[in-house]
Amino acid sequence: MSEVNENTGVALVTGGSRGIGRSVVERLARDGYDIGFCYRADEQAAALVEKEVRALGRRVLSRRVDVTDRTQIREFVATAEDELGPVTAAVTSAGITRDSPLALMPDEDWDAVLRTNLDGTYNLCRAVAFPMIKRGGGALVTLSSIAGVAGNAGQTNYSASKSGIIGFTRSLAKEGGRYGIRANAVAPGMIDTDMTSVLTEKASKDMIRRIPLKRFGRPEEVASLVAYLLSPEASYITGQVFQVDGGIEL
Ligand code: NDP
Repeated sequence: MSEVNENTGVALVTGGSRGIGRSVVERLARDGYDIGFCYRADEQAAALVEKEVRALGRRVLSRRVDVTDRTQIREFVATAEDELGPVTAAVTSAGITRDSPLALMPDEDWDAVLRTNLDGTYNLCRAVAFPMIKRGGGALVTLSSIAGVAGNAGQTNYSASKSGIIGFTRSLAKEGGRYGIRANAVAPGMIDTDMTSVLTEKASKDMIRRIPLKRFGRPEEVASLVAYLLSPEASYITGQVFQVDGGIEL
């Protein structure tokens, strides 16, 4: 186990029970943050993550909260502030895919992806923005995707949500700068999580052909960028979109 830093603040992470969100939680705990994270359904996975954070000597609050539900998100933020203290950092990692060609897209798949990915990002950032403004600072990282930068066939819903997150984050950075709030987006390429495990072997191989580094990324490789962007090391960086994608060409 690597060395744990002194307390660096309180970080909230949506979708912290699995995949990239889980790696972000673990990395931030190691960096000295107390952690509040939420997830939608998988209580067992969340319990494991809680245990890991405690083992690193940090406080943790986990809640089963659907990011599409504004009331639940507001209660989550209020509880985290009560129990852990002022929130200094937030990461919106909760996200889903429901892929299909546009001509065959079920309306409910369009709605579910936009509500979870885009509204979910708004819901958390909206809930933390006011307390951060009042206290004069904070750092936010949103999870976009290379599909939101370049577009991807079969993912009009997902790409729209992830492009929306980029516009949202750039605008938030412009608004928040005067209050000491920084906001940046991270746009991962193909990362090895449950989300990409549904790809067929052929689809994975086709993707790897387009990646100069010739492999999918690991969630920790996204988490290290997120941790950097939240840290004082990145104190003059805001409103940017950072691809962590092995150089993929879509
Ligand atoms: P995973 O599917 O591995 O994990 C998703 C996480 O989000 C889980 O913790 C899940 O909780 C949670 N979640 C999903 N829906 C909700 C909801 N409505 N409310 C609260 N929590 C929710 O995804 P990844 O880690 O792969 O992806 C994380 C983020 O990174 C997403 O925004 C994704 O779009 C983005 N991304 C991922 C890429 C990849 O290749 N993996 C590439 C580019 C971007 P539960 O388990 O309880 O359902």
